[in-house]
Order: sequence, then structure tokens, then C-alpha cells
Amino acid sequence: MKAVLLVALFLCLPVLAGAGQLTITPALIVPGEVALLRWSDRGAVAGEVEFNGRTFDLDPAVHGGQALLGVDLGMAPGTYPVRVRLAGSGFLIEGQVRVVTAQRPEERITLPESMVSPKDPAVIKRIERDQALLKAVFANHTAGAVPETFRPPVDDPIGSRFGLRRILNGQPRSPHAGVDFRSPRGTPVKVSAAGQVAFLGELYYTGLTVVVDHGGGLFSLYCHLDQIDCVAGQILRPAEVLGRVGSTGRSTGAHLHWGVKLRGDRVDPLALVTLLDGKKP
Ligand SMILES: [Zn+2]
Repeated sequence: MKAVLLVALFLCLPVLAGAGQLTITPALIVPGEVALLRWSDRGAVAGEVEFNGRTFDLDPAVHGGQALLGVDLGMAPGTYPVRVRLAGSGFLIEGQVRVVTAQRPEERITLPESMVSPKDPAVIKRIERDQALLKAVFANHTAGAVPETFRPPVDDPIGSRFGLRRILNGQPRSPHAGVDFRSPRGTPVKVSAAGQVAFLGELYYTGLTVVVDHGGGLFSLYCHLDQIDCVAGQILRPAEVLGRVGSTGRSTGAHLHWGVKLRGDRVDPLALVTLLDGKKP
């Protein structure tokens, strides 16, 4: 146990390079979790972050020496370099993200075959339209700092956790990319953090859906709603009610599906709750 603790402490040490230092929390990351990067050079905040073959810009107006990094549910275990390049000072700060294997439980579900593999050309066309629509929503985002807190949208018990390996009618399918709450129909759904309504509408799989842009490439999704209580483009305060729990779309009963996308990566909303509520000393 002591050895494990020592190893964990060693992994928490910041990696020094140049004049800045980079702290990555948590030290060991499971696919689907979110890392918080913090560096000491808070004076020069414009720049860019490079990770896993992609680069994103740091907005000088809002990035105060920290940024969120998503590790997609499908990312392979391994050690990945992360580089923060600061425009003002020209400093290059480097660190390593260590992705470790997750043991995800399996869930077997039986549904009418028509719900699992739609054959109707009109339905297939609609699903394609939905996918294109969401892709366009996620392609644009507002600027924004890392939220102070990130909260579950309801207080109800969790039915299905993030990352469950799903077997639908005996066939392995994409893992569960969100958290399901066992909420009764009509339960008010509160937004997880301040943000702007980026999309609302009815989609084939997720029914009445609201997508909120929290800035910096962070989005939250609320699905299968019975009713939507916000309008497109609305600025939501933390915990503001955006709709009611329902069972619209591909759903077998009232529940809330809650998802998070961070610059296109599917991450566990609860990992974000843990990370942001635990980040302050
Ligand atoms: Zn779900």
C-alpha cells in the first residue's frame, strides 16, 4: 500500500521544462476521464495545447493558467505527451498524461429489433441528419474558462454508469457515453454549470434534447426530455432548469441521459464533477 502511495506521489510531481511547470490532475487517467492542466506562468496565458495529435488554442481572455483535457472513452492505455506553448513568454511546458486500463462492467439489453437496427430509409436518413446537425453544433463553441463547479442535473439514483459495455440483442454496441439517472417523468433538469443553449430539438435516438455550451469546447447534453424549458441561445445560470425528465426517443421508460463532450471527446460527466469539486486546496 505504501509503495503504491509513493508511486502515486511520484507521478503527481510536476514535470519541469523551461521556466514553467505543468501539473496534471489526476496523475493516472482512465479513458473517459478529464484531466486538469495547471501551469505556473499565469502572466502569459495566450498560446496552445498539443495532445494526442491535436492542438487547441488557449484564449488569452479566459485561460488563467489552466485548461481541461479530455481523454476519450476509446483511447488506448499508454503515456501521452502534452505540451503547453505560451505565446507571451514563448515558454514550452511539457508533461505526460498516463492513461490506464479501465474495467468497465457489461450490460445486456433486449429491445425490439426495429429499435436496434433501423431498416426504414426515412429513419436512416433522419439519423444521418441528426448526426450532421450535432457535428455542426460541436464544431463551434464560445470562449470560456474552466467552470468553478460542475454538478449532476438531478439528485436521483444512477441507473447506468458511463462506459458500460453494451450488448444489444446479443450484439456488442458502442459503450454507454453518458450517465443515466432513474428519474421520474417531470423531474426538473438543472444545467450542470453556467452556459449557453447551443441546440434544442427532437432527435431520433435521444428524443427531446438540449445541448449546452460551457465555453472552451466543453458541452453537456440532456436527453429523452419530456419538455424543454429553455430557448435557443439562452444564457443559463448554474443549476437553472432547462427541461423535464421524460422518455422521448429510443427509450424504454422515463430516465435522464446526461452526457459531456470535451472538444469532441466522450467523457464521463461524473469525472468532471469529481475533478472540479476537488480541485480547490
Ligand atoms: Zn444513457
